[in-house]
Amino acid sequence: VCPTGAIMPKSEISYVWKVLSDPKKKVVVAIAPAVRASIGEVFGFAGGNGTETAGKIVTALRSMGFAKVFDVSFAADMTIVEEADEFLNRLKKNKDMPLFTSCCPAWVKFVEQYYPDFISNLSSCRSPQAMYGSVAKKIMPEMLKISKEDLTVVSIMPCTAKKFEARRPELSKNGVADIDYVLTTQELARMIEEAGLLFGELEPSAFDMPLGFKTGGGVIFGNSGGVTEAVLRDIVSNNSGGAGKTEQFVFVRGEDGLREVKVNFGGRELNIAVVYGLKNARKILKDIKVDRSRYDFVEVMACPGGCIGGAGQPVYKDLSVRKTRTKVLYESDKTMELRRPQDNPYVQKVYKDYFNKPGSCAAHEYLHTGHKNRKRFNETFEIYKPDQKGNIK
Ligand code: SF4
Repeated sequence: VCPTGAIMPKSEISYVWKVLSDPKKKVVVAIAPAVRASIGEVFGFAGGNGTETAGKIVTALRSMGFAKVFDVSFAADMTIVEEADEFLNRLKKNKDMPLFTSCCPAWVKFVEQYYPDFISNLSSCRSPQAMYGSVAKKIMPEMLKISKEDLTVVSIMPCTAKKFEARRPELSKNGVADIDYVLTTQELARMIEEAGLLFGELEPSAFDMPLGFKTGGGVIFGNSGGVTEAVLRDIVSNNSGGAGKTEQFVFVRGEDGLREVKVNFGGRELNIAVVYGLKNARKILKDIKVDRSRYDFVEVMACPGGCIGGAGQPVYKDLSVRKTRTKVLYESDKTMELRRPQDNPYVQKVYKDYFNKPGSCAAHEYLHTGHKNRKRFNETFEIYKPDQKGNIK
């Protein structure tokens, strides 16, 4: 991933326009949480910077011809429900601890390529983008009354690494990828301009159901610490019979790239690390190599501040922009009626209709994935080479 967005992979805009103009095809799309916090910066309308623009994005996408507009935050809620279940199982068996989050494809590839000894620590849960693709390909043909071949699934992400993730063979069925095309926030802005839409003047509209409904837990995913906070909302409140306020976990928030927190969980102290930036990730892996019991749960996002600082987002020079985006997502969370992922009624219905319960065989088939050792022979990156005692510099 290019951290400044200067090197961009091949754009899929022309493919998306082509499929949108094909009358036989139904194209569904979903936007990631961080996109709504930043795209307003591009269009320069009054209040565009620091405005939550999900409603305007929905209107823009419908005007372009997308059949359904969904929210990746719905799949983020599902990711938390699965990941919380996986974490509690591992904690009980004291197996493959600490659990590493796996929703950032740049971090996942970093572990696969440079630290394959830690692959079993990665959560097997798919990222929200990958869960959205898998669920959409499974349920939308029936809902839209079309054949599987006539469905195209698009996602709009803050991220160039998500384009790589969508091409992973593990995230396809019978050779057909779950996500057909990935566009970045910058590419969406370009499409809005190409369509001649005046973004600042668009009236907001609502997401389509069922994959457009989310809780606050799914929205804060875009911020560093958001995954951890959402997992705590799930496991701690479940463990205390639903008691407790969601605000009690705000201590995981912060601007430092490496934060450590402790949480009381049923009389046991959970040690958690929240990390952004691969330099910090390298540092924490070095510590864990020395003492595997140091942490129970480790969240890593590759980009500064998490996905709000992704390489597919509008380029910014002033660091205050990142803070503003972070605030947009936390403010959005506050306005949600439901803030714990497990309370999402549409997530509950999708489980009831298709996946039974978290961790079930069906859930593993559609909502989990595998990771592989990508370490290259003749590795030339000195910095990652272990010394004679096996320590990594
Ligand atoms: Fe993509 Fe960056 Fe978010 Fe990772 S942290 S998923 S690389 S935007």
